[in-house]
Amino acid sequence: MADVTGPISTLANSSHEVPDGQTCDDHPDRPAVARIQGETDSFGCEMNDMCAECADKHRAYLRSPEAAEHRKGTCEWCKKPADDLRDRRDYEEGMSGRVYRVCGICVKKENDELAAEERARGDDHDDFDGDYDD
Ligand SMILES: [Zn+2]
Ligand SMILES: [Zn+2]
Repeated sequence: MADVTGPISTLANSSHEVPDGQTCDDHPDRPAVARIQGETDSFGCEMNDMCAECADKHRAYLRSPEAAEHRKGTCEWCKKPADDLRDRRDYEEGMSGRVYRVCGICVKKENDELAAEERARGDDHDDFDGDYDD
């Protein structure tokens, strides 16, 4: 089975160490030789375990024109054409929300906003007094 991780800093399609005894997601009778990170967002990602054959297919797919074609289209958030679309859930809707096809700019913007919100929450809003010298 594919694992779902918690928040993770590495990017989609990076390789990870395969846990001992792990089998291929598609071929349960074959040992996995590669663990490839799936689509990744601030919630974490899915890990895909692949046997040699599946790993080869996956790498070939990433280089293929179909894969490039799959990333092209119109961003569902900003409605602009993009060639780096990826699957993304709306943060407000959480893990049960639907998946959108979203461009890299919107993903970055959302990540920046989430980071800013986090900083704001951590801030002490009571230190507005006393700092005004004339
Ligand atoms: Zn396989
Ligand atoms: Zn967009």
